Amino acid sequence: MDSMNEECGVFGVYKNDDFIEAADAVFFGLYALQHRGQESAGIAISRNGRIDNYKDMGLVAEVFKGDRMEEFYGAKIAVGHVRYSTTGRSAVTNAQPLVVSYKSGTLALTHNGNLINASGLRTELEEDGAIFQTTIDTEVIANLIARQANEGIIESIIKTMDRLKGSYAMTVMTKDKLIGVRDPLGNRPLSLGRINESYILASETAAFDAIDAEYVRDIKPGEIIEISEAGIKSYMAKPSEKTALCIFEYVYFARPDSYIEGVSVYGAREKAGALLAKRFPVEADIVSGVPDSALPAAMGYAEESGIIYKKALAKNRYIGRTFIQPQQYMRERGVKIKLNALRRNVEGKRVILIDDSIVRGTTSKKIVEMLRNAGAKEVHMRISSPPVISPCYFGIDTASHEQLIGAKNSVEAIRKLIGADSLAYLSAEDLLETAKEGGLDFCSGCFTREYPMDVEHEMGKGNKLILEQNGQ
Ligand code: 5GP
Ligand code: MG
Repeated sequence: MDSMNEECGVFGVYKNDDFIEAADAVFFGLYALQHRGQESAGIAISRNGRIDNYKDMGLVAEVFKGDRMEEFYGAKIAVGHVRYSTTGRSAVTNAQPLVVSYKSGTLALTHNGNLINASGLRTELEEDGAIFQTTIDTEVIANLIARQANEGIIESIIKTMDRLKGSYAMTVMTKDKLIGVRDPLGNRPLSLGRINESYILASETAAFDAIDAEYVRDIKPGEIIEISEAGIKSYMAKPSEKTALCIFEYVYFARPDSYIEGVSVYGAREKAGALLAKRFPVEADIVSGVPDSALPAAMGYAEESGIIYKKALAKNRYIGRTFIQPQQYMRERGVKIKLNALRRNVEGKRVILIDDSIVRGTTSKKIVEMLRNAGAKEVHMRISSPPVISPCYFGIDTASHEQLIGAKNSVEAIRKLIGADSLAYLSAEDLLETAKEGGLDFCSGCFTREYPMDVEHEMGKGNKLILEQNGQ
């Protein structure tokens, strides 16, 4: 079964002067978004009215090694994608950009997010004669857009948005346009940047920094941005009262040097750590964080509590995110390969250890054990988000219900399972406080089971694929 539940990174560039090479921009932009997906990478370009693309399994630097990028030099427009999927078969056919042809043209599409009504839409399209080449929901979107594209690409995207339920931040490229689309809830981030006269779209602002572009603004929930010869146009295609930006972007997913809706990801994490210190103080000798994603929260905790920050864990720099390993055995091995206790700093010490989240519990259990083996006297775990109690249906693979340690266990039971002296989690209210300046409301479904859409109802409509995927 192929995974339909995944987080990804999208990028797009529309070149308007010779200040940049579009191929370089998309390469380095994707490189900066690598943390959002390590499974496959792909780029599509438009040059002299023709669309070309290349995609493969692997990291950006592996897929586009040697002189592969040189073949893309001279592009006017480019879009790129990194894909992350953690369960099921991963195949290059499911990599993006998806390139589809329609009567009068070709379009390339990159998508971050997850449709909850993909299966129903797909069945409907298949009954109407459509043939699918992949198992990803993105192809449903591409199909819907291509069907009506002869009437005009923007009109077609607007009509398509009427049909889509779920999350999508997308870049769409035709031979002469770059288009950015963000779903009405604004569930996934998407920002607009500029370098000289050229425009950039990216999942995260850190990608702008990587290519010396400046941040212009976030694409609004429900907005379509069209960049072409005629300049830049905005359509408020699906304005929505209700917004639901994924709070997990701030907790774990995004880079700390990115800003989402103007809110620093690092800042939000640091605040979460400070709040943890206020709510759950404990006497200890050192505060430490699980590298890398929990370090800002750990700094926040240390500053607020006045307890000195010390590195308790050393990290192997040459290893990626451990979730990549689908088997539990490999996952456990993965933690040990990735992290090791710094005996010098923890021996005989009472340690407060901060992590950003506990999902399956594998990491925490291994780490507590490592610290004890290295002579730590006490280990107090503090988590800068609430227990993950429910799967994500909108694009982050937080594992199936059965695998979530927080779904069935009380905090005290989890404490016992991971072997810590004490354990406390930040509340959902406190967590949402940390990023509220952005002005959007949040989806915190994985922490609260309250989703911004009637997930069960939508998925009930023959959406068996996704239900199975989530292990329901
Ligand atoms: P656990 O071992 O409890 O399953 O995972 C918790 C650890 O995984 C935490 O250190 C956290 O930083 C990280 N984590 C949380 N969510 C995700 C995710 O969606 N993908 C990956 N790769 N890691 C995650
Ligand atoms: Mg971690």
